[in-house]
Amino acid sequence: MATPQTKDKAMTPPTSIDEFVASLDLPQEKAEEVTTVLNLEGLPSLLNGTKVERDVPRLADISCEIAQIVLGPNTLREKREVKDLVEESWSQTCWEIPACVVRPQTAKQVSQILRIVSFFKSRFAVRSGGHSPNPGAASISNGVLIDLHQMNKISIDSGHNVASVGPGARWGHVYAFLDQYGVTVIGGRIPQVGVGGLILGGGLSYFSGEYGLAADNVSSMEVVLADGTIVTADHEHRSDLFWALKGGGPNFGIVTRYNLRTIPVKNIWYESMVFSIDKATALLDAFATWQSSSDTKASVALVISLNAIIVGLVYLRSTERPSVFQPFYEIPPLFPAVPPTNGTVLALSQITGASSVSTSPRHDYRAASSKVDVDLYKQVYQHWINKATAVHESTGANLTFVLQHIPPNLVRKGNSNGGNPLGLAPISQQWWTTIADWDNPEDDAVVRDVAISTSQKWEEIGKAHGSYLPFKYMNDASRDEDPLGSYPVANRNRLRAVAAKYDPFRVFQTLQNGGFLLSKS
Ligand SMILES: Cc1cc2nc3c(=O)[nH]c(=O)nc-3n(C[C@H](O)[C@H](O)[C@H](O)COP(=O)(O)OP(=O)(O)OC[C@H]3O[C@@H](n4cnc5c(N)ncnc54)[C@H](O)[C@@H]3O)c2cc1C
Repeated sequence: MATPQTKDKAMTPPTSIDEFVASLDLPQEKAEEVTTVLNLEGLPSLLNGTKVERDVPRLADISCEIAQIVLGPNTLREKREVKDLVEESWSQTCWEIPACVVRPQTAKQVSQILRIVSFFKSRFAVRSGGHSPNPGAASISNGVLIDLHQMNKISIDSGHNVASVGPGARWGHVYAFLDQYGVTVIGGRIPQVGVGGLILGGGLSYFSGEYGLAADNVSSMEVVLADGTIVTADHEHRSDLFWALKGGGPNFGIVTRYNLRTIPVKNIWYESMVFSIDKATALLDAFATWQSSSDTKASVALVISLNAIIVGLVYLRSTERPSVFQPFYEIPPLFPAVPPTNGTVLALSQITGASSVSTSPRHDYRAASSKVDVDLYKQVYQHWINKATAVHESTGANLTFVLQHIPPNLVRKGNSNGGNPLGLAPISQQWWTTIADWDNPEDDAVVRDVAISTSQKWEEIGKAHGSYLPFKYMNDASRDEDPLGSYPVANRNRLRAVAAKYDPFRVFQTLQNGGFLLSKS
């Protein structure tokens, strides 16, 4: 039965300086300071122009000036400081210089910032962990960068059932915090990645086969809506918004807190082996064979790079070498990278983090998917290795070819937890991704073309085989892909309805700089 929706009516935006200042809910002294600045700025003529006439950089500057009064030192405008903060983003493709960086510490401050950018119609971007390599998603030139890094507190309830995590936390910190309580959560595999963006795209973990996506394991979220209202979204309150946030991306509000259901897991088993590149097709065979197993506790990371292949095997409890991984044991490795180990979730995340460091500053990733089809895997791999080798020789770029197994149970878990917008069929499938790392901006197009042409092969050969799936995983999708467009039409329409309900003035669609927006899907 559908849960009743909380009746929210979006607040009408302030139409005068007085209304705007009142909406910020400031102490009198600060309110007076804001009013004085705005009266000096000749604001009405600036604000009343048409979209074309409005002096956009000037309005961004005024937003920053007001944000500085409201947030004090948590608004940074000095060039050197701004540049240093911008360069915390993982990929140089996102190092754009905003008019200012605002670093809220509370949901109320996020609300004040949203009210400021809305009133001045300033463009903005939202950044949590800064691990999207897509230009403009969590970066912006001249506008306001809302950096949630300082909202990174992690706590746990007295029964150790729910971890409450700020969007600016990194997954490594989350696992380190939870380790002491003997529990963990469904989250990212690499410790440096941010909580905020990963959950809004779905969130694939080593344990998703057993428990579903990270988003499927959220019990509630605190969200700041476009009009600055701070609300809770869960199964009982605004369940439509809650559903939309579980994979619908940055279209509905800024999430300021995720309450995550914990799982009673601390000790697990893992092993990692390095294979020579000539074992690629044998390993693709092994991967497809392993995909037919129904053991949802087993997870495999298959990362093929140009000079070696890493196979990570993970099992969701302490054990001896699990027989489910037998297809991989039949192929002789070059050497063991991590011997069979009964260790902790925290230790695994540290190992994964240490093995995924790149020295090149520019990055991209890309998404494609298919049913289980080993011939398809091999043909696409052959295309990729030829292209990737040639581009490596001409540019020095390093590229990977990664298959991620999605068992039916992952989809069923999502459905039994209230569903999500991804609209996945409960069948065994794989989500392909690739990471490209390179040095020079001049090589962007040629390096990205390897992944683009490889995803075309997934489609072309996949369709010929009858094993193509249109789904594109948002968290792996590149700037020109349309993950929301790969969701079922009914879900997309529902997402649009939710966005229209909670953001009727289209703040997130029109003022937000980038990211996977419904307005562009
Ligand atoms: C090395 C590496 C490993 C990865 N491993 C995994 C993995 O194991 N599983 C997986 O599923 N994905 C993985 N990813 C993909 C990752 O989930 C996405 O890149 C995700 O966007 C990163 O989140 P972030 O907070 O770091 O990103 P950001 O770049 O800060 O944000 C990404 C997008 O989310 C929006 N956003 C961020 N926070 C909020 C918020 N609080 N409210 C509203 N909008 C927000 C931003 O505006 C932007 O559009 C990995 C990526 C990398 C680079």
